[in-house]
Amino acid sequence: MKIIMLGAPGAGKGTQAKMIAEKYSIPHVSTGDIFRANIKNGTELGKQAKEYMDAGKLVPDELTVKILLDRVAQEDCANGYVLDGFPRTIPQAEVLEDALKKLGDQIDYAINVDVPDENIVRRMSGRRACLKCGATYHIEHIPPKQEGICDTCGSELVLRDDDKPETVQKRLQVYHEQTQPLIDFYTERNILKAVDGTKDMKEVFNDIIAILG
Ligand code: ADP
Ligand code: ADP
Ligand code: ZN
Repeated sequence: MKIIMLGAPGAGKGTQAKMIAEKYSIPHVSTGDIFRANIKNGTELGKQAKEYMDAGKLVPDELTVKILLDRVAQEDCANGYVLDGFPRTIPQAEVLEDALKKLGDQIDYAINVDVPDENIVRRMSGRRACLKCGATYHIEHIPPKQEGICDTCGSELVLRDDDKPETVQKRLQVYHEQTQPLIDFYTERNILKAVDGTKDMKEVFNDIIAILG
């Protein structure tokens, strides 16, 4: 099963993608996580990506598409995957579609996690991330057991550089301009499914399971 998660920054794509990955035993592939791992390890890709990310902009398609296609070509992706944060532009979606077509394959579902802009800024300022294992928490809605510490790996939790309110506004604008058109793109292909992302995380997950079966 090949699944794409769509939605604004902070809509809950990552939170749901991790639960889907676990339930269906498929890898969770997040381009944001791949970039952050590269930044942490000081790679050349990380240096290039960080500039765009901190400005609230998208990393250019040329860089992003290559790392994504390399990732999904790995063996653990053979039976499917859940993409979180990719595609974010129509050209990215087209490249993915063409690459899959060559293999006689296609995406099965594009799930749009729908959350209005008003809720997003609040979500993002409360988001705390573990840069070591990729776990995500929310100080009010989904708190860690011990404040500031990752439940999974015990590392310190941080507010991401790009989750400051000014940057969130910019990212929302970029989302509406460049990513939202993907809703029409996947509607035309008859694979778009929408869920109400303002519900609590377990309810959203149940709605997704009802779609995926
Ligand atoms: P969020 O889930 O909060 O939107 P992500 O972790 O998916 O955040 O992405 C963080 C940043 O990484 C984005 O704002 C963007 O700069 C960059 N990024 C991630 N995925 C892509 C992509 N597919 N195309 C371009 N830039 C990306
Ligand atoms: P995205 O990957 O779309 O950027 P995240 O999954 O990182 O979004 O979620 C953004 C923030 O909102 C995180 O702090 C997360 O813990 C929190 N969150 C996720 N889903 C919900 C929900 N259904 N209700 C309330 N908060 C949520
Ligand atoms: Zn952790």
